[in-house]
Amino acid sequence: MSFADLHLSDELLRAIDESGYTEPTPIQQQAIPNVLMMRDLIGIAQTGTGKTAAFVLPMIDILGSGRARARMPRSLILEPTRELAAQVAENFEKYGKYHKLSMALLIGGVQMGDQVKALEKGVDVLIATPGRLMDLFSRGKIMLNDCKLLVIDEADRMLDMGFIPDIEEICTKLPKDRQTLLFSATMPTAIKKLADKFLSSPKQVEV
Ligand code: AMP
Repeated sequence: MSFADLHLSDELLRAIDESGYTEPTPIQQQAIPNVLMMRDLIGIAQTGTGKTAAFVLPMIDILGSGRARARMPRSLILEPTRELAAQVAENFEKYGKYHKLSMALLIGGVQMGDQVKALEKGVDVLIATPGRLMDLFSRGKIMLNDCKLLVIDEADRMLDMGFIPDIEEICTKLPKDRQTLLFSATMPTAIKKLADKFLSSPKQVEV
């Protein structure tokens, strides 16, 4: 199978080609068509399988080329650590280089000022750790009403780090008619419960 078989846009195919990838990995082959069909998805995959591109690539095409005026974020990616969030942001910029989407990286350990400025200008995508996102939300700096695509990445690590209550709270602030993708290397009971509560008839793919 080639990336072209996955019905991604020409701009995206060009960026993928320039990344040097010749064919989609198994998790990408299974996840991307389901995400593009707007299904909720549970992806059971370890880091190193290409799972980041499995959600970032279709997300870029779903969001398209962004909108001209100030806007509310339309998509949220939750990561357990600052490092992972920064890596996903790098991937997003690499694959999205021919799209006009904007992004804010909302992580702890750095001053909020620049993050607030980015939010005020308007961004399409938020890539965040739960703590900083909750903090900015409680200060009234983030509107989540238009966030119709949510990715919960590394869910089992979120569990280990005690982030599940935060994630549950964040989920309640997003619109109900949204698409939710959950990725995890393992599926402990607490993650199954989270998926039952916040995903709707998800397709499960596993590599
Ligand atoms: P991840 O599992 O998302 O952390 O990705 C692991 C590594 O695989 C990263 O360095 C990616 O750049 C790389 N990668 C992702 N998709 C592909 C692909 N289709 N072909 C080759 N390498 C890939």
